[in-house]
Amino acid sequence: MRREALKTVLSRKNKFSYKGDVSFTKLYNSNVFDDLAMRDFLSKEAYESVSKSVKEGQTINRKMAEHVASGMKQWALSKGASHYTHWFQPLTGSTAEKHDSFWEPSNGKAVEKFSANALVQQEPDASSLPNGGLRNTFEARGYTAWDPSSPAFIHENTTGRTLCIPTVFVSYNGEALDYKAPLLKSISLIDKATTDICKYFLKKVTSCSVSLGIEQEYFLVDEAMFNARPDLVMCGRTLLGHAPAKGQQMDDHYFGAIPDRVFNYMFELEIEAAKLGIPLKTRHNEVAPGQYECAPMFEDVNLAVDHNQLLMDIMDQVACKHHFKVLLHEKPFAGINGSGKHNNWSLLTNTGVNLLSPGNDPNSNLLFLTIFINTIKALHDNADIIRASIASASNDHRLGANEAPPAIISAFIGSKLTDVLNAFLEDGKASDKDDKKSINIDQIPEILRDNTDRNRTSPFAFTGNKFELRAVGSSTNSAQPMTALNSAVANQLIIFKTAVDKAIAQGTDQKAAIVKELKDVLRSAQNVLFEGNNYSEEWAKEAEKRGLGNVKNTAEALRAYIGKQAIETFVNNGIFTKEELHARFEIMLEEYIKKIQIEGRVLGDLVYTYIIPPSIEYLSTLALNVKALKDAGLPVGETQSDLIKQISAHIDAAKSKTDKMVDARKKANNDTDTEKMAIAYHYTVKETFDDIRYHVDKLEQLVDDKIWELPKYRELLFTK
Ligand code: ADP
Ligand code: MG
Repeated sequence: MRREALKTVLSRKNKFSYKGDVSFTKLYNSNVFDDLAMRDFLSKEAYESVSKSVKEGQTINRKMAEHVASGMKQWALSKGASHYTHWFQPLTGSTAEKHDSFWEPSNGKAVEKFSANALVQQEPDASSLPNGGLRNTFEARGYTAWDPSSPAFIHENTTGRTLCIPTVFVSYNGEALDYKAPLLKSISLIDKATTDICKYFLKKVTSCSVSLGIEQEYFLVDEAMFNARPDLVMCGRTLLGHAPAKGQQMDDHYFGAIPDRVFNYMFELEIEAAKLGIPLKTRHNEVAPGQYECAPMFEDVNLAVDHNQLLMDIMDQVACKHHFKVLLHEKPFAGINGSGKHNNWSLLTNTGVNLLSPGNDPNSNLLFLTIFINTIKALHDNADIIRASIASASNDHRLGANEAPPAIISAFIGSKLTDVLNAFLEDGKASDKDDKKSINIDQIPEILRDNTDRNRTSPFAFTGNKFELRAVGSSTNSAQPMTALNSAVANQLIIFKTAVDKAIAQGTDQKAAIVKELKDVLRSAQNVLFEGNNYSEEWAKEAEKRGLGNVKNTAEALRAYIGKQAIETFVNNGIFTKEELHARFEIMLEEYIKKIQIEGRVLGDLVYTYIIPPSIEYLSTLALNVKALKDAGLPVGETQSDLIKQISAHIDAAKSKTDKMVDARKKANNDTDTEKMAIAYHYTVKETFDDIRYHVDKLEQLVDDKIWELPKYRELLFTK
C-alpha cells in the first residue's frame, strides 16, 4: 500500500484546470437566496415579511410562507436545482440533510411542487441521530423548522444541485436536538441584555447582535497516502508514526509561499465559498508542515456558524477533486501543531457601534469598559462551562500541547489595558509602566489604536476590538461554545444591570452606580486575567493556587454542563431545560467513549496486522542471516544480534501492551454509568495509547523501510 501510494502521489500531474468564472464579485452569493434574489423572486409583501422576520424576529404567517415557498422554488429551479432539503446540525457535529425531489408525477406527467409545509416544517425520520434520551423510539419524531435568519442556498455536486434550507431540529416536545436552536435562544438573550445596558449610554440603540469571525485551521494530505493509513481513514488522526527528522522546527512553512497544488485547492475552495456567500478573505500556510488556514470576514454569529459548518463540508468536497483529504482533527500528527478554530467574538449595536471598541468620549469608553469587564467576569464565573463547551476526544489532544491554549481558561487583555483597569480601580492613580505616564479610561482609544500586544498562548485573548476564543477545536461546531459564551455574558449583564438599577433606585447617580458596580465586578473576576505564557508549568501551578479549573480530559470536563453554574446560566435564562442539559451531557460522554473505543480498536488492528508482521518478517531475515553466517563459520557481528534483541523486545512490548489495552476496553464496557465508563475509557484505555505507540515507533525506526506498510510521517507531511 505504502509504495503504491507514494508512486501515485509522485505520478500526479497537476490536473487542475479551473475553467469557470473567477470573478469573485460576480460569484459572491450567486447560490444564495439573498436579499437581491428575494427581491427578484418574491412579491413585495412576501419580501417584507421575510425581512421583518430576520430583523425583528416576527413570525411569517402561513399565507406569506406559501408565497415565499413559491418564490424560493422558482429561484431554485432557475439555478438548476432538482431537490430540496432541510439542512440542520444534529448533535453529531456534522450537518444533516434528507433530500426530496421538487417534481412529482401528476396525470402521467411530472410537475414541480414546493409548498409552505415543505418549507416551514418537516419531520425527517431521523430517529438514529443522538438525542440523549429525549426521544423515545416508539415516538421518535423529530422536527426541523425553518430558520429565516439564515438564507437558503444551493449546494452543487458534480451531477446535481440541491436547495438547502437552514433549520433547527427539535423533538416532538420541542426540546432542542441540535446546535442551532440553543444558539438562536442565546442570541435573543444577549440581544436583550446588551440592549438594556446600552440604554444607559446610547439612547438610540434598539437591538444588539453578536459578530463572529472564525479562523479555520486544517491539514491537507494526499488522498492516496490518506487511504493507505487506516488510522487516518477511521479516526482522522495518526495513532502511530515516528516523528520525521524535520518537523516544524525550521519555521519555514508558516506564512511561506503556498505550494502550487495547495494554492489551486484553496482557490477553488474560495470560489465555491463565494458562491455560497461565505466571505473567505484570508489564506496562508500555518506553522506545521501540511497545515493551512482560511478565515472569512466576520458576520452575524448565526450565519457565521452556518457558514463555517458549510465551509467544512465544501472543504472536503473540493479536496476530492484535487486528490487531497482535509484533516479537521485537532491533532492529526503527534509532535507538531494541532488545528483550532479561533472564534473572534464581539457585540454590535443596530446603530453600528462595536461595543468592544472604545469610542472617542468618556461616555462611550465607560460603555466599552462595562461590556469588557462584564465579559471577563462572565468568563470567570463560567470558565468550566466554556471548557466543557469545547471538550471533545480530539480537542483533548490539542489543549495544552504545541501552540494550543491549555485547558485552563483565562483571559489575556494586554499590558496597556491591564494598566487602564488598575487605574480604573484606583481612580486613575496607576501609571503606565512603559512611559510612566498616568493613563485613564479616556485614553483607551489611543492605547488600542497602536495595540500590538498578542498572546498566542491564551485561550481567550482581547485583540483590540474583539475577544478571540482560541481554544475551540478545528472540527467543533462553533455554535456550542458560542451558545455558552453568549449566555454567560448575557447572564452577567443581567446581574450587573440589576445591581446598577438598584443603586440608582436608592438615589445613586447613574454614572457613579455603574463605576462602583464595575469595580466590584472587576475585583471579583481578576483571577481569570493572565498575561504570561499559558504553556508554562508555572502557570499551571499559579492557576491551581488561584483556584482555576484545569481539567485536561473530556470525560471529567463535561460535568460542568450539569453543574450549579450551568443551571444559572442556561436553565434560568431559558437556553436549555435541565433535561436538555442532561441529554447533552449524556450525548457528549457517549461520543467520547465511542471515539476512544474506535481508536482503541484501530490501534489494536494496526499493531496486530500492520506492525507485528513486517517486524517479525525482518526479524526472521536477520535470524536466518545470523544462522547462515554461523553455519559458514563466519563471525556474527554485534549489530545483527543487537538488532534482533531490540526488535524482539519491542514486538513483545507492543503486543503485550496492546493485549492489555484490549482487556481494559472490555472491562470499561461493563460500566453501566455513562460518565464512569467515559472516565474509565480515559484513564485505562486512552492513557495506554502512547505507551503502545512508543514501541511501534521504535520498530518503525528499526525495521527495513522496504517492507514497512504504513506511510511514514515524512511522506504524509512532505510528499506532494
Ligand atoms: P487578527 O489577525 O487580529 O486576529 P484579523 O483582522 O485577521 O485579526 O481577524 C481575524 C478574524 O476576526 C477575521 O475573521 C475577522 O473578520 C474577525 N473580526 C474582525 N473584527 C471583528 C469583530 N468586530 N467581531 C468579530 N470578528 C471580527
Ligand atoms: Mg486572529
